[in-house]
Amino acid sequence: MLSKVIAQSSIDHVEKWFEKADKIVIVSHVSPDGDALGSSLGLWHFLNSQDKNVHVIVPNVFPDFLKWMPGAKEVIIYNRYKEFADKIIQEADVICCLDFNVLSRIDEMEEVVRTSPGRKMIVDHHLYPGDFARIVISHPEISSTSELVFRLICQLGNFGDITKEGAECIYTGMMTDTGGFTYNSNNREIYTIIGELLSKGIDKDEIYRRVFNTYSEERLRMMGYVLYDKMQVYPQFKAAMISLTRAEQNKFQCVKGDTEGFVNLPLSMKNVRFSVFLREDTEKDMIKISLRSVGNFPCNKVAAEFFNGGGHLNASGGEFYGTMDEAIDLFKQSLVRYEDLLLGKK
Ligand code: 5GP
Ligand code: MN
Repeated sequence: MLSKVIAQSSIDHVEKWFEKADKIVIVSHVSPDGDALGSSLGLWHFLNSQDKNVHVIVPNVFPDFLKWMPGAKEVIIYNRYKEFADKIIQEADVICCLDFNVLSRIDEMEEVVRTSPGRKMIVDHHLYPGDFARIVISHPEISSTSELVFRLICQLGNFGDITKEGAECIYTGMMTDTGGFTYNSNNREIYTIIGELLSKGIDKDEIYRRVFNTYSEERLRMMGYVLYDKMQVYPQFKAAMISLTRAEQNKFQCVKGDTEGFVNLPLSMKNVRFSVFLREDTEKDMIKISLRSVGNFPCNKVAAEFFNGGGHLNASGGEFYGTMDEAIDLFKQSLVRYEDLLLGKK
């Protein structure tokens, strides 16, 4: 038996909205990851089973390793079909905002979502939900939005309507946001839910392989280059940093998703508890920062204070507008500022 994490008042509210709504739009954050797509498609499959007119719209493309997901082909990429997507968002009765807390996380879609007359709800697990939605289902203690979608459907009394395809999407999001159940994954109910998803006929081993073991040769060689030539370790701070320029990514014919997971690599060293990956973005003129930590070191604080970002305690991100040298310099400043916490003195 799962505990009822979502407040009954929210469940009643959602039920009413879904009942009345005909046109429903699901939106998720820029550079969609496994949980953004998993939660969105999980909910999409469910609402399809309720005969709703429902679309998933995300700001930009997602990595190749998520393209196998059931329903992925139906996902509308906003920056490719802007006019079409604008119309759907403007005409929506309900807009479900999944896996993000503030509208700036949906990039170019921010304005149209904000101004649409559609009723908005948030289902998310990031801290500090914004105030743009009437229904706010925000649970930072839950490790993925996909898990929240599963809980939402169950608390609505519709477990029976979850299909194998929907279960595959939900499982993917739960798996990717916990690094294959290696962090943020000590809540035993996660494993009850996995059991329920398996009862729908999913093949979890195959999903793992599709997501984590289908990279190109170039990606693996780039990883080798990054580890041999680019990784800097700062043992005095228990930290490590990897930087990667646009030219370096081009050399390895890097495509979207190829650098996924690089930020975690230094954390496999015994004494590293904070890792940062700085990558020149290939779409925008900025440096994308990924931060990861183990234990109680709050990398979201570093992201917010130094890189205009945020996120979770152990996984966060941000952006930097300037040169790589400046970004690296800022990272080094953050080590000095957070030295006491890094070394566990506070
Ligand atoms: P990733 O390193 O995988 O891109 O992002 C890890 C987590 O950091 C995301 O799940 C999200 O919570 C957060 N995050 C990533 N980029 C940003 C950003 O630019 N701004 C904020 N506020 N959070 C971000
Ligand atoms: Mn998530």
